[in-house]
Amino acid sequence: MNLAVIDHPLTRHYLSVLRDETTESEAFRAAARRLTYTLVLEATSRLPVKEIEVRTPMETTTGHALGEVVAVAVLRAGLGMLDAVLDLIPEVRVGFAGVQRNEETAAPEEYYINLPNLDHASVLVLEPMLATGGSLSWAVDQVKAAGGHDITVLCVVTAPEGVSRMYQDHPGVRIVAAARDRELNDVFYIVPGLGDMGDRLFGTL
Ligand code: URA
Repeated sequence: MNLAVIDHPLTRHYLSVLRDETTESEAFRAAARRLTYTLVLEATSRLPVKEIEVRTPMETTTGHALGEVVAVAVLRAGLGMLDAVLDLIPEVRVGFAGVQRNEETAAPEEYYINLPNLDHASVLVLEPMLATGGSLSWAVDQVKAAGGHDITVLCVVTAPEGVSRMYQDHPGVRIVAAARDRELNDVFYIVPGLGDMGDRLFGTL
């Protein structure tokens, strides 16, 4: 399977805060950040590290240093996950992939792309809502075209349709998520879901 659903109590707690329709933007942003911490721990559990020598006050011992990590935020909702990644991996380099879905067809329409050099980097793609998978598949195409190969996607909520689409288009890409929801509705929103992630993050409802 290409999907790991995190079953940690903190993940489930913050997911419920996000799902709750009465959660206002400020609390929503805080919950998105806290939930993302729990996803980052799993998403980075296979990152390569190199052995280094560390001098403690007592003696020299073996330590470990992280390799290059790049985060790619899929605009705009991916911004809600970015602060957590920056907190945990401050040296991360950050790219942006701007894609909006056509409200009638749900097809992805690109409006901005800016990726740092991805050679030798492990890439974390931030896309909170994996609905049809069209936008995410497009973003991963861009990452691969820019040289990215070790790619993990972090999602808050996934729909079965999006997970299948990603498995079909990018079988080597691992998805780490807080939930696998039931289905998409007829306007391609995830149900039960949490509504429009970007609108709820930024108060544009
Ligand atoms: N994007 C969202 O913000 N919410 C959904 O349910 C699907 C896509």
